Amino acid sequence: MKRQSLFFTCFFIIYAVLHAVTLKEDTKICGVCGQPVHVTITQHLLTGGSMDLDLRPAPEKRNTLKYQIQVCHKCNYCWPDIAKERKREKIAAVLNKPLAFDDLAALFGRAAEIEIADNAPSFASYMLYMKAAWVMDDQKNKQKSDEYRKLAIRQMELYMERDATARTTGDNYLAYIDALRRIGEFEKAKRVAEVATLYATESILPKILDFQEKLIENKDTGRYTVADVLKTAK
Ligand SMILES: [Zn+2]
Repeated sequence: MKRQSLFFTCFFIIYAVLHAVTLKEDTKICGVCGQPVHVTITQHLLTGGSMDLDLRPAPEKRNTLKYQIQVCHKCNYCWPDIAKERKREKIAAVLNKPLAFDDLAALFGRAAEIEIADNAPSFASYMLYMKAAWVMDDQKNKQKSDEYRKLAIRQMELYMERDATARTTGDNYLAYIDALRRIGEFEKAKRVAEVATLYATESILPKILDFQEKLIENKDTGRYTVADVLKTAK
């Protein structure tokens, strides 16, 4: 089993595990400009719950989205860990754009742009846009959440185009299919699901794929959890 596949398969399997959150204050050094940045870090205790099919954690942990992005107000750098070093020249065009510090979805979107400018479309840029979509889901802003899901989908497509390993990882297909279905791209979701049968072969992945195919058939754009899959698969 590939490393990423193992990680996300475990994520799917440990569906009954969720984290109650405690917070810790800390100071880090910005990985771009070297200024100290005050951050709040989450620490977790185990409780219960089931993650969504787009990898979004169960309710208590999902409420920690605002702690999952760190921002340097001096240079506009955003990243889940602000201490991650990057060369300013490579991301200067992104840093120089105006940034709304109080717009959490925009901060995740900005971090995705930084990843794309500095590295390439990747699973990280996909997830950052998905987190922006989750923020908009919480705000019941369907138009904006669809926009961010479309950006996430594009990142997954580019990532799969450039990386052969990404094209054979069942977890990637399942996340991709769920994002397509949630924005009503049923025809495309169906085509991707056909390819995914070759790769979503381990553990709970075939059950999730079956579940997704039924949702696509029913033109269902709803949010479902891994527990929903397991209930149906019994
Ligand atoms: Zn900085």
